[in-house]
Amino acid sequence: MTSLSLNGVTVHFPFTPYDCQKDYMTKVIECLQKEANGVLESPTGTGKTLCLLCATLAWREHFKDTISARKIAERLKGKEMFADSPLESWGPASKDGSTLTSYSDVPKIIYASRTHSQLTQVVNELKNTSYKPKVSVLGSREQLCINPEVMRQESHHAKVHMCRTKVSSRSCVFYNNVEENSTDRELVDGIVDVEDLVKFGKKKKACPYYLSRSLKQQADMIFMPYNYLLDPKSRKAHSIELTGSVVIFDEAHNVERTCEESTSFDMTPYDLASAINALTRVLSDHAQEASLVEASSQGLKTDIKVVANLKEILLKLEAAIDSFDVAGDKGITKPGIFIYELLERALLTYDTKDCVFEALEQIIGYLAGQPGIFLNTSGLQKLLDIIQLVFCGEVSSSPMERQQKMEANTAPFKVHIHQDTSAQRKQKNGPWASSTKKAGNILSYWCFSPSFSMQDLKNQGVRCIILTSGTLSPLSSFTSEMRIPFPVSLENNHVIERDQIFVSVIEQGPDRVPLSSAFDRRFVPENLSSLGNTVVNLTRIVPHGLLLFFPSFYLMEKTLEFWRDNGHADRIESVKPMFVEPKGKGAFTETIGGYYNKVSDSQSRGGIFAAVCRGKASEGLDFTDTFGRGVIITGLPFPPKLDPRIILKMQFLDEMNRKKLPGQKFLTGQEWYREQAFRAVNQAIGRVIRHKDDYGAIFLCDQRFKNRDAQSHLPSWVRPCVRFYDNFGNIVRDVCQFFRVAQKMQNNLSTLSLQYDKRMDEMMRGGKRKIKLVQEKKPSVSCVVTGDGKNNFARNFLGEMKSSLSQVNFEQIRQALYSYKKNDNLDNLLLDTSLLTHDPHTYRLYQGLYSFIRPHHRKTFDEKCLELTGTGCGYKLEESLYKDEKRAGMSHSDEQPSGLSSSSSSFTSSTQLNVEQFKRGHQGPRETQTGTDPKSQVQAAFLADVKKALGPEGSAQLYQAVNAYKKTDNYENMVTAAVALFTERDENFSLLLRFGNIIRHHHKKQYKEMLRALMGQGADTAPAKTDETKTEERQSSA
Ligand code: SF4
Repeated sequence: MTSLSLNGVTVHFPFTPYDCQKDYMTKVIECLQKEANGVLESPTGTGKTLCLLCATLAWREHFKDTISARKIAERLKGKEMFADSPLESWGPASKDGSTLTSYSDVPKIIYASRTHSQLTQVVNELKNTSYKPKVSVLGSREQLCINPEVMRQESHHAKVHMCRTKVSSRSCVFYNNVEENSTDRELVDGIVDVEDLVKFGKKKKACPYYLSRSLKQQADMIFMPYNYLLDPKSRKAHSIELTGSVVIFDEAHNVERTCEESTSFDMTPYDLASAINALTRVLSDHAQEASLVEASSQGLKTDIKVVANLKEILLKLEAAIDSFDVAGDKGITKPGIFIYELLERALLTYDTKDCVFEALEQIIGYLAGQPGIFLNTSGLQKLLDIIQLVFCGEVSSSPMERQQKMEANTAPFKVHIHQDTSAQRKQKNGPWASSTKKAGNILSYWCFSPSFSMQDLKNQGVRCIILTSGTLSPLSSFTSEMRIPFPVSLENNHVIERDQIFVSVIEQGPDRVPLSSAFDRRFVPENLSSLGNTVVNLTRIVPHGLLLFFPSFYLMEKTLEFWRDNGHADRIESVKPMFVEPKGKGAFTETIGGYYNKVSDSQSRGGIFAAVCRGKASEGLDFTDTFGRGVIITGLPFPPKLDPRIILKMQFLDEMNRKKLPGQKFLTGQEWYREQAFRAVNQAIGRVIRHKDDYGAIFLCDQRFKNRDAQSHLPSWVRPCVRFYDNFGNIVRDVCQFFRVAQKMQNNLSTLSLQYDKRMDEMMRGGKRKIKLVQEKKPSVSCVVTGDGKNNFARNFLGEMKSSLSQVNFEQIRQALYSYKKNDNLDNLLLDTSLLTHDPHTYRLYQGLYSFIRPHHRKTFDEKCLELTGTGCGYKLEESLYKDEKRAGMSHSDEQPSGLSSSSSSFTSSTQLNVEQFKRGHQGPRETQTGTDPKSQVQAAFLADVKKALGPEGSAQLYQAVNAYKKTDNYENMVTAAVALFTERDENFSLLLRFGNIIRHHHKKQYKEMLRALMGQGADTAPAKTDETKTEERQSSA
């Protein structure tokens, strides 16, 4: 545990914090001290939640100390308690400008996150700190009720009302036991989450739902999903008191949407019909009763005339909504204030709302308590919610003030009346069956600004609001949407180093077709094919788990369909099996489980998880370490532009902009639209780095990411790392290089600081998960490694061998190498290591032995390797030479540079390709050349194979690329074309190897590296000898 002082507050932190963690905590404390709202972005993996908890709880303790100091000072009446330590020496707390003097004034911390599972993680993080506040976690009856009869109810409303009835009649045994258990030390002193609470409740037969509400009274910190806070109805239902509290929204990137959704509604014909049916049932029940007194005795306290009036209100409302002719799918839109006019037609006004509200509550409660067949009360409940929302706040009797109040209430809203297109389906069953009414219209009252909820929250007298997440940027537009001031802000750095992340914009695939998910391009076959080829190649080079995000389900389905029909899916799945995010909730757990299992399987090459931006995988899942080594973004996920709600939101923003209200700046509709896309992208790419030692690659596969504006929307820690490529070959090269380095660094780190890392990792993950270090397959390198890298290589290679073989076999190989070193006997080595040639999975290990072979044996070993495994080790003549011989050779070659034909180009003499011959090979009738010159034969054989593999069109493209290379010496262009052509099909890979023969001498090293990276095994420019041998073999067999 480390203690540090930030802004005068002593914070106890579980380990020495990083600079970015200190920065973050300082900002949190600044918000709390200055009572200022803050918007704080800190990337996932920076320990944001832990920092947030430690900083707020440290400040709270400090606040309590301040009050203690004041109380002591008051008692001492100006004297100092300790002569040598004046009160001021207690720190700035004692001089806090606040006048609070009671411990009950210490602000509560309200901690809200999006879901209960996120809250569970936060509570687990809290357990890892030294702070032990009194906590309460609020949940719904859905999660906390343990009464079997109530739990059997199908609808949420039925559960709520049955529970309320039981509570008021004290007929729930669990409720009756709450009081005596609410002071249990296990609950009061422990840090209990929802799961713990239910366990406790079952053990003690006490209701967890009411226990959590009881704990709330004394809690220092209250956890809840953020719709409880933002929805005034929920806030009221849970009796959440906010005055003076600190309100924290974690994962706040969704706050905007939740604010808008919690204050919007859709009143459907189905809702109205179910409400009318419910009232009809009440009326008919009463008609059968002898008198009102008897009815009342059964629980309904409302006069039957009021029930009849309510039914009339609903019928009028139905008629009012259906009076609009909204044929077609457009609907009509009115300003928000129109809602009052519409409701007035159904006699619902500020004057009648209390009466209607009370009657509705009575009837809903009465129906929930009725035995027999369940009656749907959701329509009545909806009307209740609408009344609370629309007629919120008190109004004065002055018509002008009333009008102003109504205008203010409805400013961020629009009324939209549209046809119910789902009516036909519902008509077949459900309440429609009993209703004579034809399908009608939907009344939507939609909120288009989070400001309504935020302002409401502020009006509750909160001390400050902190919004925090890993993806909030650009902060200015985020805060401008909220429309409350945020004086404190932070765009934090990441804890990772630059070499732990690789970000590239891939504007075109290997075949040079521009990539784009734009409306006019997304289903163009060339685009889909090029994207498929891109994914195929990235699948090969990204180790373990790879995430593939699409802009929407529709686009994902269409793209995968194309890939299945055109062979791309098979090529991808030959390397990594693909798991596709399902639309519904049901199959998700199973699918993601399959992916995790595949990636964890040390025998596999990992897996691909195809998912959608804004989906479950992109928003809330943890793809740590090997589960997410790469993220491919296949396009910009703009919201559906034809969705009426999106259209109206954009219109709303444009209207606000036109009004030019002083001191207020709104995004334009278009700006907002773009930001929605980038927020979703940022959320998805945030999956890749989950802790300080994690590493991964991000591929932005859409040419629109090239724009400066697009880059400015990426998170601040990603922006400086973005690389641009104009050819695919270089991406492949750099990605492979990136993973090699990152993996090596992680291995070093693992050994040096495993203990520390485990602790940190546990903290980062909420302490629940076990540390699981998954050993990655290291790419085998069968070329000769020299210099400083030699020892590392040998160690890594033996490490890989050890993890891949049984102990007995590993010992045999190790002994064989040792003997070879001692005796220089190649035959014995070949014999003792031949077990590696029995299984194709161990071929790469056999090829890797090449690095241990002495120069005078390399040629023989290379030939043996080719014979036994089908792949050589990239032997070159100069590798048979010892250092002195090489030096002599080099000076010789310096004197006599090799060239291509008569040009000044420098193809090596042994590997030069006559382009004319290539051209003939491409066009000409001969399958093979029959010249006596062995070099010609080699080239002829290669050309024949190329023609066969690529067909006339592909061969022509290759010819053009080679010809251009000859003229311009532009290596990049030529290699890009070659890689694209030869990586289309796996069986053509060997041609890429042999293609090395035509690479000029000064580009050979580059080419070799690219090959090694692409193939992840002994790749080298194929020596002429290999082809010569093949030619000889063909001739002799002929
Ligand atoms: S009091 Fe508790 S246990 Fe009883 S019905 Fe209500 S929520 Fe369920």
